[in-house]
Amino acid sequence: KDTLSKVDPELWGAIEEENRRQEEHIELIASENYVSHAVMQAQGSQLTNKYAEGYPGKRYYGGCEFVDKAEQLAIDRLKKLFGADCANVQPNSGSQANQAVLMAFAKPGDTIMGMSLAEGGHLTHGMPLNMSGKWFNVVAYGLDANEAIDYDKMEALAREHKPKIIVAGASAYALRIDFERFAKVAKEVGAVFWVDMAHYAGLIAAGFYPNPVPHADVVTSTTHKTLRGPRGGIILMKAEHEKAINSAIFPGLQGGPLMHVIAAKAVAFKEAATPEFKNYQEQVINNARVMARVLGEERGLRVVSGRTESHVFLLDLRAKNITGKDAEAALGRAHITVNKNGIPNDPQKPFVTSGIRIGSPAMTTRGFTEIEAERIAHLVADVLDAPHDEAVLARVREEVAALCRKFPVYGA
Ligand code: PLP
Repeated sequence: KDTLSKVDPELWGAIEEENRRQEEHIELIASENYVSHAVMQAQGSQLTNKYAEGYPGKRYYGGCEFVDKAEQLAIDRLKKLFGADCANVQPNSGSQANQAVLMAFAKPGDTIMGMSLAEGGHLTHGMPLNMSGKWFNVVAYGLDANEAIDYDKMEALAREHKPKIIVAGASAYALRIDFERFAKVAKEVGAVFWVDMAHYAGLIAAGFYPNPVPHADVVTSTTHKTLRGPRGGIILMKAEHEKAINSAIFPGLQGGPLMHVIAAKAVAFKEAATPEFKNYQEQVINNARVMARVLGEERGLRVVSGRTESHVFLLDLRAKNITGKDAEAALGRAHITVNKNGIPNDPQKPFVTSGIRIGSPAMTTRGFTEIEAERIAHLVADVLDAPHDEAVLARVREEVAALCRKFPVYGA
């Protein structure tokens, strides 16, 4: 057989370099993870060849009897995992799942309410340059003086503006979200209550973060973050919304679903129901907590919101006189990968920022526990204390290399 390395050595070279980067760098990007071999095998399967517009049992193409089985497995496992009435496993991404909710429940010009991007929300929740912000009238809520969601303000805004949809969920928020409170407000003002649990889905599946499914009309997620599946999206909903959501995904937004990715989602949902996954998620939270404690209490950085109750937290770098952009670059040179991130009331531009976001899902997958989390937090702080000191960067790089060798992701 012609292997990829023979057919396309140039591309294969890039893949090998990326594989090496993933093995040899410590991954602290909160939205990333490493999938299992089984998930990758499903995603690299012949299911990529199949067109299957429609849904299991109701397709617009012949020959769908076996991909129907794969999609039904994914749907059934997903419903069970989160206790949902109905599920759609076809969204190609988290953003498309979110677009489907907007398409199903609002019309351009309608008012929607979400968390502001600058305070932790996602761009698909109403950011001005995103479709959600361009086509809808957006009312944004944010954080209070303690950098927790300002629920009172959210409630007041909802009463004043009567949005069609209220979305709860975030990309950079370390605390638990009170979904019940949101649901009460949505009910009172007659809004559809939508939760985007993309960041927290794995923690929720394992029981370490509140489950929004009993409270929300519709719940979207990505599958590739804490949930540790392939890159993609999903939607859970109450039975009464199934028709509207399914027709928003197909034919509303998408054509043929990615059946190989749906198969890989099915594998990930099976894995997420195991005791090992539960242990993994507990370790994810413990590792995040250790890193936040060391950086905040021992190394003089400010943790936004004061602590973490999840897999993620933001660091305010202003005390160290370094921007998020420069911190990301310096840590990158030390083989620690993070992303720059705006902090509440950030004086810097979004491309520069005063913060970085740190997450534990990927580093925990490779086997790091509290001992390594503590060490890694010190390495991060060492770099932030001396971002231009080549000797420090070289020492950190060496320690990172040793840790990565001891805990390979996929092995040789
Ligand atoms: N929703 C939230 C809360 C996210 O953090 C993200 C990704 O960063 C998305 C949606 C979008 O997912 P995708 O990148 O798959 O479009």
